[in-house]
Amino acid sequence: MEQKRHFSINLLEWYDKHKRDLPWRRHRNPYYIWVSEIMLQQTRVDTVIPFFNRFIERFPTVEDLADAPEQDVLKCWEGLGYYSRARNLQAAAKQVKELHGGIVPDDKASVFALKGVGPYTAGAILSIAFNKPEPAVDGNVMRVLSRYFLIEEDIMKGSTRAFMESLVVELIPDGRASDFNQALMELGALVCTPKSPHCLTCPVMEHCSARQEGKEEQLPIKTKAKPPRPEYRVVALVEGRGEHSGRVLIRQRPQEGLLARMWELPHLQTPAARSGRLPDEPAMDILAGALLEEGIAARPIAHLTDAEHTFSHIHWNLQVYRCREEDLPQAAELKAMYAAGDSGEPSVQTEYRWIDEQDMQHYAFPNVFLKILQNYFKHSSY
Ligand code: SF4
Repeated sequence: MEQKRHFSINLLEWYDKHKRDLPWRRHRNPYYIWVSEIMLQQTRVDTVIPFFNRFIERFPTVEDLADAPEQDVLKCWEGLGYYSRARNLQAAAKQVKELHGGIVPDDKASVFALKGVGPYTAGAILSIAFNKPEPAVDGNVMRVLSRYFLIEEDIMKGSTRAFMESLVVELIPDGRASDFNQALMELGALVCTPKSPHCLTCPVMEHCSARQEGKEEQLPIKTKAKPPRPEYRVVALVEGRGEHSGRVLIRQRPQEGLLARMWELPHLQTPAARSGRLPDEPAMDILAGALLEEGIAARPIAHLTDAEHTFSHIHWNLQVYRCREEDLPQAAELKAMYAAGDSGEPSVQTEYRWIDEQDMQHYAFPNVFLKILQNYFKHSSY
């Protein structure tokens, strides 16, 4: 009991003196807090700050976000990754506009019902914005609690999380839920760090059980997630000719699934998808065939660069080839055939566009393609 009391008192005293000045802390605006918490998932504070400022400037209210074209929201999110967060945030903003008159609700059931809002984010919104004594337990918080209270249970287990949530509810001092949850997060981010925690400057060191037993580096216990599955892909950077001169070809991803509706360079998984990088010649042959099948009149001419991107479950290894637009009559025939579809009805067509460097601002790209395109335009001789 004493250990718990010390924790809450010492932590809050420290937070009151040392809390960082973060843009979403300057006002207790629930919309700002909500946006910041979504951005902070899997992303560090320093990275989030400029994105947050730009996002709020572009979409200052829930209604502005709800009413914006999706491509504008994705464009503003470009570079932050995990784009389903942005799509869910906008879907939830529409819910707030339609069901709550544009005002972020402060009751648990309504907050939990918002798209993309799980137990952690709901707890963060309710506590930070509305000072409700709700737990907001993420990896940072579980690390601090595991160490301070010497909890040697696997933090990947639902039962451990549930236990920690009830522990946080006990620890929150009356009337200070907002500060307490932020203090806990702040301690995890600044002091009780994953590697080499700064115990000597820690405000709760005196009663920290892991520190007393010399186990701070061994906690928390966490089963390892499966490593992402590698995929090898060949990518076409098609340079236009004639009316497309100075432009490259991009396409839109499907309506659903990974990176839905974002824009990218045409690419496909190679048959050696699991076994490693292909030599250039077979890679270019595969790409040539795939471009033709898509009705794209272009030929691969040289290797341009390699790139990588990790999603939570897949690791892309991309081999990028410069391709030149050419007159290939077979491509035009195939395109016409696809457009007609089997039954003579128009089929669902992939959207392609020819863009130059200036046009890039109108399209949202996953980071890996954004970098390839930026580098290409920077170094190309157009
Ligand atoms: S004393 Fe060390 S291990 Fe314990 S809470 Fe502080 S930083 Fe973490």
